[in-house]
Amino acid sequence: MKTDIQIAQEATLVDIREVAKSIGIHEDDLELYGKTKAKITDSALEKIADKEKGKLVLVTAINPTPAGEGKTTTTVGLGDALTQLGKKSIIALREPSLGPCFGIKGGAAGGGYAQVVPMEDLNLHFTGDFHAITTANNLLSALLDNHIQQGNELNIDPRQVVWKRCLDMNDRVLRNTVVGLGNKMDGMVREDHFVITVASEIMAILCLAKDIEDLKNRLGRIVVAYNFKGEPVTAGELNATGSMAALLKDALKPNLIQTLEHTPAIVHGGPFANIAHGCNSVKATKTAQKLADIAITEAGFGADLGAEKFFDIKCQMADLKPDAVVLVATIRALKYNGGVAKSELNTENLEALKCGIKNLEKHIENIKKYNVPVIVTLNAFVSDTEAENEFVKNFCESKGCEFALSKVWESGGQGGIELATKVLDVLEREEGNFTPLYPFNLPLEEKVEKIATEIYGAAKVEYEPLALRQLKKIKEMGFDTLPICMAKNQYSLSDDPTKLGRPENFTLHIREVYVSAGAGFVVALTGSIMTMPGLPKVPAANHIDVSNDGTITGLF
Ligand code: ADP
Ligand code: MG
Repeated sequence: MKTDIQIAQEATLVDIREVAKSIGIHEDDLELYGKTKAKITDSALEKIADKEKGKLVLVTAINPTPAGEGKTTTTVGLGDALTQLGKKSIIALREPSLGPCFGIKGGAAGGGYAQVVPMEDLNLHFTGDFHAITTANNLLSALLDNHIQQGNELNIDPRQVVWKRCLDMNDRVLRNTVVGLGNKMDGMVREDHFVITVASEIMAILCLAKDIEDLKNRLGRIVVAYNFKGEPVTAGELNATGSMAALLKDALKPNLIQTLEHTPAIVHGGPFANIAHGCNSVKATKTAQKLADIAITEAGFGADLGAEKFFDIKCQMADLKPDAVVLVATIRALKYNGGVAKSELNTENLEALKCGIKNLEKHIENIKKYNVPVIVTLNAFVSDTEAENEFVKNFCESKGCEFALSKVWESGGQGGIELATKVLDVLEREEGNFTPLYPFNLPLEEKVEKIATEIYGAAKVEYEPLALRQLKKIKEMGFDTLPICMAKNQYSLSDDPTKLGRPENFTLHIREVYVSAGAGFVVALTGSIMTMPGLPKVPAANHIDVSNDGTITGLF
């Protein structure tokens, strides 16, 4: 089997203007970044304002194993299969971050014969959106420190600065640092921190903003620090809004590329799925839905994090109504959830599967709470056995749930025909009647409790004293009607990453609560969440290279 990058480099790409034309976008409404990448301008969207929207399909998954279980691969393959069936389909994905690309996980362009291309460009810099976000984030930091230096009219308490600098790199030494060392002219000495760019609130803002005006309003609302009286100080008060928005003006436009089979792919934005909502931009999803009969999008991590936030935050905020959900599982992840060690996942084990499938069961039940039809798909690995596949198929059917085996990694769109046919069937037969888990106007604690008990399966929620104090303050600041963004580990439905499968009778511990006022949600931290990852002992970066003719190797 060839590597992902070999397959991607052997592909023949069509001119991006042709891809755009296939979905009715004229080249005048594109900003070209070479021959195979383009940004879609607002003028393209204005022209189709009256066009009826297509259907919206979300791809999500069971709780993942450390390897990633093929959501992007499935999203791409499903798009290609629908194209093969003559449906105008567009996929909408997140942009990869450089940190994981050089770390453990590698890139995020799908895999095997279900990938988006140009894979190297997408994984390295792409159209510069993340650099723009990094710069806007750090401009705000610079303005804040300069404000303190120049007399501190807003009485910012340097011990209560909550805005952090950022970098799109896994660089653990920057997690905790001191800035302003030197003499008087070098600034006020204070403790500072770096997060990875995808964890910046600006990333979440960009992904939720409807247009430039909404972007500016959100940027202005960012809480950067507290003053000596404990009152919030915002980016708007630092006069940072206009200049940040100016840096972000192009980053706000969705990027168009293609799959290996030339299905259009809108790849835009990429917030974390724990401290942020983990979905591509609202603009990308809406554009895809407008231009296609069927738009397929992906949410990060498992359905407990990604899909919950997609539904409750993104869909509620942007008035999106998903029509179907594809729930990805793999035999390997199910066995892992049944307690099998990573090194043993290639051996048939029906007992472990029987135990681990409870995880899938819980996610099926959860999605049904949103009144959206669900189709379970097994992303086939060569190590899977017939008996194992049969077991999962029977289980899904016993739950009254559609099931399809997907071989898109091995065979591209052709391997996704069974899945695509099931999806079409469901879209035709079932009227989507999407209902979020909670309305925004429910008190914050009740929203947390609903997510904890109904989605995670917790018996109760407990707050640490610090979290209780923070919650009180957030209410005083008037943020009670914001949705909750739960920051939890992705491996378990509970807040303990070692509790796999379907944990029951557990308590969810809320350790900290803070507001992302610009993004428009209240983040509840259930454990220590890493917002600046580190590199592993042997980083992927060690194997990446470029030849004299510019060919990149070692990306995956
Ligand atoms: P996710 O979106 O869930 O994080 P990806 O689709 O990015 O997962 O896939 C993660 C990795 O797993 C990729 O490197 C991809 O090539 C690989 N992968 C996905 N599906 C398969 C499969 N069926 N067989 C082998 N490898 C796969
Ligand atoms: Mg993915």
